[in-house]
Amino acid sequence: MTTTDDRPATAAATPAARVRRPATLTDAFLRDLVARVPGSGGQTWDLTEVYTGETLVQLPQSTPADIERAFAAARSAQQEWASWPLRKRLKVFKKAHSLLIDNAQLTADLIQAESGKNRRMAIEETCDPPMVISHYLKRAPKLLKPVTRGGPVPVVSTSTEIRQPKGVVGIIAPWNFPFATGLSDAIPALMAGNAIVLKPDNKTALSPLHGIKLLEQAGLPKGLFQVVCGEGPDVGPTLIDNANYVMFTGSTATGRVIGERAGRNLIGCCLELGGKNPMIVLDDVDPDEWVAGALFGVFGNTGQICMHIERIYLPESRYDELKARFVAAAESLRVAAAYDFGPELGSLISVDHMQRVHSHVQDAVAKGATIVTGGDPRPDIGPAFFEPTVLEGVTTDMLTGCMETFGPVVALHPYRSVDQAVALANDTDYGLNASVWGADVDRAVSVARRIHAGNVNVNDSLATAYASKGTPSGGVKQSGVGARHGDQGLLKYTDVQNLAVLKKQVMGARLGQDYDEYVKGMLTGLKMMRRTRIR
Ligand code: NAD
Repeated sequence: MTTTDDRPATAAATPAARVRRPATLTDAFLRDLVARVPGSGGQTWDLTEVYTGETLVQLPQSTPADIERAFAAARSAQQEWASWPLRKRLKVFKKAHSLLIDNAQLTADLIQAESGKNRRMAIEETCDPPMVISHYLKRAPKLLKPVTRGGPVPVVSTSTEIRQPKGVVGIIAPWNFPFATGLSDAIPALMAGNAIVLKPDNKTALSPLHGIKLLEQAGLPKGLFQVVCGEGPDVGPTLIDNANYVMFTGSTATGRVIGERAGRNLIGCCLELGGKNPMIVLDDVDPDEWVAGALFGVFGNTGQICMHIERIYLPESRYDELKARFVAAAESLRVAAAYDFGPELGSLISVDHMQRVHSHVQDAVAKGATIVTGGDPRPDIGPAFFEPTVLEGVTTDMLTGCMETFGPVVALHPYRSVDQAVALANDTDYGLNASVWGADVDRAVSVARRIHAGNVNVNDSLATAYASKGTPSGGVKQSGVGARHGDQGLLKYTDVQNLAVLKKQVMGARLGQDYDEYVKGMLTGLKMMRRTRIR
């Protein structure tokens, strides 16, 4: 990765301003990326580099008329795209797979600039769309192939399940994994023959725009993948009212708003929402294996992963030992602003979000919790940095005891029995992810099965579940509706047409037929039906 020193004068405002922005991120490159966003009202959003607070580019803000035009263009492109044979559509994604990998470093530059995350997380994020492509390249032909079954009367009738694209899918994405949520959820929808209108978060529109450019270089027809930008409440209503399906990733509060509107329009939606994810550490855990995994689960992406761990339950018999290992590891993390692999922790997304995280810590302390380490902002590093923080004594009347904090903050809790740990882990309105650690894997699995969450990782925090693209991944309780990945991650973007054929008129009474004879024949047919094989 190359870097540049040509900083504007304002760069001296914070120590992080000394960070060298990659030379790849020229003004011309960034302006070209945002040029595809419609903004006929002339309004723009100041999209900034998180490490420094400096403006990167002015992002156009789309008006309701712009959004309607984007849908019209997408709908028109979709007609032709859906008429392509599946093999031809998939060829685009084979090429896109290579292009996305070849451009991973540049994509990571963009992700880091707009989100402030560290290099490791940015690079890992670039891997997600290629993984999704790999999975569905293999699976889509099976899922989209028409399936013909016997109809109600064997031989003379058939029923064929045909998967048709929904039309135009509206995707609303958050800032924490903008490239992954902007692109990966679109890939199966496109393969199934849909068009996309994406609304990324204003703060992180650059990396998905770059990804779409790469898809078009791979042969995706122009116009098929539209992007509109703006604040959620401004863009959301027009987007949902024009979409045939909505894929939303974000907070539980916003998910409720999206779900209500989709319901009113009688369109389907998938809602991937927040979590308050627990980790149970069993008393036979190997601390050497556990510490690194737990550290990533808590502090990865500076605690801004929907599946990250905010509560750790440790066995009372080993509490002091495990706490000491975890806290020492947390204190050794290098927090810094840099576009290289040095820092283990990057920034939070914004000053607003950093203040929200800080307020959760302050509220906990005011109500009796103890800070074991961390607890403070780090303006000396950059405007939105926050220390890796470990708390004890957190209770459910505290903000961080019951709500998602979504930052580098975790609470440690001792437990006496596994039953108590499971009860505490389940004592939440959320059900997105959980983690169980133990040397006896069978025992850990039996504990994992008792946790009410859509994903549970054994001897890992989150990555094993998220990277298992063949299995649906979603939240239960207040953490979501529906799932991404797995067969339903593609099939949700389709409608089923039941094409039924009757080759001979053998159903129903014939004109003038004796009714007793008809009923007898029908009841005999019912008995036979139970014995026929179902496909
Ligand atoms: P958010 O709900 O505030 O925003 C998400 C997106 O929705 C943004 O693009 C935003 O502009 C848009 N939006 C906001 N209000 C809207 C409205 N009224 N109508 C339409 N769109 C609207 O969430 P956030 O703070 O950006 O993201 C963090 C949250 O996302 C966390 O709760 C995190 O757990 C969750 N998340 C969940 C998953 C998952 O897969 N379950 C993945 C990533 C993030």
